Amino acid sequence: MWKYLAFVAAPIIAFGIQACAPKSQDDCGFVQNVYGERISWKGQYPVAMYIHESVPQEYVGAIVAAAKTWQDAAGTPLFNIVTNQRVTGPITAQKDSRNVIYFLNTWEEDKAAEQARTSIYWIGDQIREADMRINGKFTYYWNSPGMASFTQASSVNIEALFIHELGHVLGLKHNDGSNSVMATYLANNSDRVNIAEADRSALRCEY
Ligand SMILES: [Zn+2]
Repeated sequence: MWKYLAFVAAPIIAFGIQACAPKSQDDCGFVQNVYGERISWKGQYPVAMYIHESVPQEYVGAIVAAAKTWQDAAGTPLFNIVTNQRVTGPITAQKDSRNVIYFLNTWEEDKAAEQARTSIYWIGDQIREADMRINGKFTYYWNSPGMASFTQASSVNIEALFIHELGHVLGLKHNDGSNSVMATYLANNSDRVNIAEADRSALRCEY
């Protein structure tokens, strides 16, 4: 049976997952299934991430950089960011066996504080699909050599946001401590682009 969980990047999040069965494992920073087993791609990587045409071209490099950051930390290719083609069609994340990043210019009014939302789908303890939605209502910047960086009120480092959301794609849950890139809230103008030791040790449990 398909299981589903959506992560939101927002100041407050509630998790409803309990580890309570005989096969329970240490969570090690990962989402767990109802049996307490860690959920990850279980060797089925690099994970192909497709980019919807709604994502502005100037942010594609930030996705590639974020993927490289995780790969450098793991010492293995975790992602294949597909940059030579774009996904077309509706800006609607759905379970379609393809991992897609979307950029939305509309967002639920009652969830305006969310910067992004990543949904993962799994069977057993294996992730089969992950989709990412970026909230286009925020103002973003990126400290890229080829792109002018800027700082203004209410702007978010989009590379830092992609690093966090790709962590969810890998199966990581929030970690509000240890300078983790998986901390729930990404503050405005925070250049949180370095993988913390806590993130490295979490990665080692599954990758
Ligand atoms: Zn998150």
